[in-house]
Amino acid sequence: MIDELRRDVCRLHTELVRYGLVVWTAGNVSGRVPGEDLFVIKPSGVSYDDLTPESIVVCDLDGNLVEGDLAPSSDTAAHAYVYRHMPEVNGVVHTHSTYASAWAARGEAIPCVLTAMADEFGGEIPVGPFALIGNDDIGKGIVETLTGHRSRAVLMQNHGVFTIGESPKAAVKAAVMCEDVARTVHISRQLGEPLPIAQSDIDSLYDRYQNVYGQRSHL
Ligand SMILES: [Zn+2]
Repeated sequence: MIDELRRDVCRLHTELVRYGLVVWTAGNVSGRVPGEDLFVIKPSGVSYDDLTPESIVVCDLDGNLVEGDLAPSSDTAAHAYVYRHMPEVNGVVHTHSTYASAWAARGEAIPCVLTAMADEFGGEIPVGPFALIGNDDIGKGIVETLTGHRSRAVLMQNHGVFTIGESPKAAVKAAVMCEDVARTVHISRQLGEPLPIAQSDIDSLYDRYQNVYGQRSHL
């Protein structure tokens, strides 16, 4: 089970590269081990080209290394905090993707002005607090912002994006979609004020996409 998850999480890092969400080593994917108080995550400072399933490390929910030869990602404490406090979450992704981080740098939520945003996020993508790495502040900011919120993505102020999902793949999809809408809404803003979507329309788009659209078993 852990080996399969390591393979999955290793492969999902190539999606971060493919969609242009990361530079150097600044971005990571983790996945909860089903039925265990453990998760797997990228090792710290390893280039995406050099990642192998064996190099993906296993941590407990306090962020301590349980299995692996390398030190876990420096963002491990934030991932661990999310897994401790959001039992429904099985995947977490962090990136500094350009357009989303530009919104984060301004501390501005991305308004829901695209139907694709209503589908995926059910409203705006919110901003979380400014927080320094090194304790639980980032994790706390993620959990406090996303608890009770439809969005599976949060823009941590002056920092970047964290996304959550029912699987590591779902969290990667949210990170890809977050950057996509951040870019489109940014470009739209250059030529004027994007038109709002009525809340009732956002609600029906979200409901349809979450409950009817596509092959739900694939997530
Ligand atoms: Zn970061």
